[in-house]
Amino acid sequence: MTPPAPLAAPTGVVGVLGAGQLGRMLAQAALRLGLRTHIFAPEAHAPAHDAAFATTVAAYDDEDALAAFARAIDVATFEFENVPAETVRRLTALGVSVAPDARALATAQDRIIEKDFARSLGARTAPFRAVDDRAALDRAAAEIGAPAILKTRREGYDGKGQARLKDDRPESLDAAWAAVNGAPSVLEGYVDFEFELSVIGARDRTGAIALYDAVRNDHEGGILRRSAVPSPASPETAARAGAIVSALLAALDYVGVVGVEFFVTGDGEVLVNEFAPRVHNSGHWTIEACVVSQFEQHMRAVAGWPLGAPTRHADAVMENLLGDEAQAWRDVAGEPGAGLHLYGKARPAPGRKMGHVTRLAPLTGR
Ligand code: AMP
Repeated sequence: MTPPAPLAAPTGVVGVLGAGQLGRMLAQAALRLGLRTHIFAPEAHAPAHDAAFATTVAAYDDEDALAAFARAIDVATFEFENVPAETVRRLTALGVSVAPDARALATAQDRIIEKDFARSLGARTAPFRAVDDRAALDRAAAEIGAPAILKTRREGYDGKGQARLKDDRPESLDAAWAAVNGAPSVLEGYVDFEFELSVIGARDRTGAIALYDAVRNDHEGGILRRSAVPSPASPETAARAGAIVSALLAALDYVGVVGVEFFVTGDGEVLVNEFAPRVHNSGHWTIEACVVSQFEQHMRAVAGWPLGAPTRHADAVMENLLGDEAQAWRDVAGEPGAGLHLYGKARPAPGRKMGHVTRLAPLTGR
């Protein structure tokens, strides 16, 4: 059988919605393949612009700008999940193939739809209740108990839009409700996990799937601190997580890279926390430790190329450089074997992802 024609061949243009560091690293990976990127984002100064072939600075609902963008590109994707699903639908209606599609994006954008979807695959999640008003929070807290976490249904990331409930006293519930600004939310039971795990997976336009090795993630204050591979997960636990990722990719007829985050309990059970319909911070180590990184893998899938092997040739620890930590870039640059990445952001802010560093070690197994 002849393989399907690519949607973007070398010298072709991949449109990317969003201009953060993920878009920047996607643009870098595209260059390696002879592809070009056209970044579309509302921000005039952002990390991806430096690496792009073309940029459009416009609001995501600017119909004229979207129409011009559609004419200028061969295929499109997005680099962060808060791009309005409507923008993706609009581009699709203009005849652009957008991968992943609006359904995958919309599923990941709402924590309740996302958890219901994970459960429909047979996966476990933390216990949860929808919370649409203050009275519903009382009922949910009575059912779920404490400790628990209240999260906005939409637009939360890096621990933003979240409030931890240590107990279910009325004043604690009032404070949590104020912390989410009374937005439609979900109350999740606190999972007493042993560690957090993620699996980066990819699916191409023919339905072929490639999974990278599962990674252990450490978060601090809701923000990813480091990712390490190999993870401490047993082969059975890693296989269970991988099977969920494959099922998710197939169920959504997904094209591109996905990052799925799990909690692993003491008895090796995996619970889905959330999934990101894009390249993921916990997959940055693949740049140094794999022949084909998650960024290149995503570009291959989106452009309609075959996937590369996700094989890992080294152990790796990726550490984020948050806020002022990036000011130590000279020390990291002078460290033998440290793969330094800086995102070109002008102003550090507490918790802001300014760069990352990946340190490799000889392969010890998986
Ligand atoms: P999220 O934005 O939902 O990924 O949450 C950020 C981080 O908060 C997670 O990676 C966990 O470290 C922690 N967290 C979130 N939800 C829960 C939960 N239900 N139980 C325990 N820890 C959680």
